[in-house]
Amino acid sequence: MGKDMMGAVVAYAPGDYRFERVGIPEPGESDILIKVEACGICAGDLKCYQGGKRFWGIDGKDKYVEEPFIPGHEFSGRIVAIGRAREKATGFRIGDRVIAEQIVPCGSCRFCREGNYWMCDPHDVFGFKSRLPGGFAEYAILPGRALVHRVPDSLTVEEAALIEPYSCSLHAVKRAKLGSDDVVVISGAGPLGLGMVASASKLGPRKIIVLDYKADRLAHAKRLGADLVVNPGEDDAEAIVRGQTGGYGCDVYIEATGHPQSVVQGFRMIRKLGRFVEFSVFNDDVTCDFSVIGDGKELDIFGVSLSPDCYEEVISGFETGSLASAGVVTNRFPLSEFEAGFEAAKGAGGSVKVILSGV
Ligand SMILES: [Zn+2]
Ligand SMILES: [Zn+2]
Repeated sequence: MGKDMMGAVVAYAPGDYRFERVGIPEPGESDILIKVEACGICAGDLKCYQGGKRFWGIDGKDKYVEEPFIPGHEFSGRIVAIGRAREKATGFRIGDRVIAEQIVPCGSCRFCREGNYWMCDPHDVFGFKSRLPGGFAEYAILPGRALVHRVPDSLTVEEAALIEPYSCSLHAVKRAKLGSDDVVVISGAGPLGLGMVASASKLGPRKIIVLDYKADRLAHAKRLGADLVVNPGEDDAEAIVRGQTGGYGCDVYIEATGHPQSVVQGFRMIRKLGRFVEFSVFNDDVTCDFSVIGDGKELDIFGVSLSPDCYEEVISGFETGSLASAGVVTNRFPLSEFEAGFEAAKGAGGSVKVILSGV
């Protein structure tokens, strides 16, 4: 490998991702160049790889990605070069361990100006466009507008890779406004659902009930703070939730599976005046009885996207040990074996969060 080349995964089309040698990017005056230590594979990365319409559009319309691009937005690393302007403005130095938030806000659209940067209109997230390469590479640029946070040396590589998904989980839990009397159902114990369990258990609601079809994931949920775990494929989840709530249903239902059926299930097991939190990206449209929202139960519906103002809280949660994550990263592959990593990220054989690290 030449001195100025690096290994990277490059996406050309759905299903056509290649491990290649590409040039190490040159940081400009306001950029930071990091050596990536690891990058998690997100459900979104997988759906993009599989050609999800949310990313590639339909018949050339509503396309989000701009290929070719280097995927990955759940990455951290050490600064190996920094532009002079950036160094002066931020105090970051070569050798610092850092992470950038997944979205790089434009700073000038309506949402950025109103402080709602995570809804930034151009919506540039690392790893979906050629102009903003992601972390499935040995090196990555954190451009001037990137929101960069320090990562303490005490965090493991696995914890650092979980900062992004756990921040999204934390945002979802904040949207649910959990109180000490609430029985909360978290549907889906993938990496994000597990992060929600960990965040929710810090708040001490009356009961955390986790639903998933995989026994190994339910075991993780239990370990991270769930009071009760249920496999809806084996037991009557709605009857169990009603049994735990005097027959009324759960106060809060957080949907974190991406499966339409989980929405239907939530509408059934949530109590009247409950809070329904929707986090997922769906490959298929959801069909359900919308009258439940109004006439039936007068629900509050909360959407969740990304992780505004959550990174610092997650980083300090990992640093102090108050936020549990042990065992959530189950697999680690080099970039050159990304295909095996993507396969594992589908969740078979006990895998939960899969990270790519090194070549
Ligand atoms: Zn992600
Ligand atoms: Zn903006």
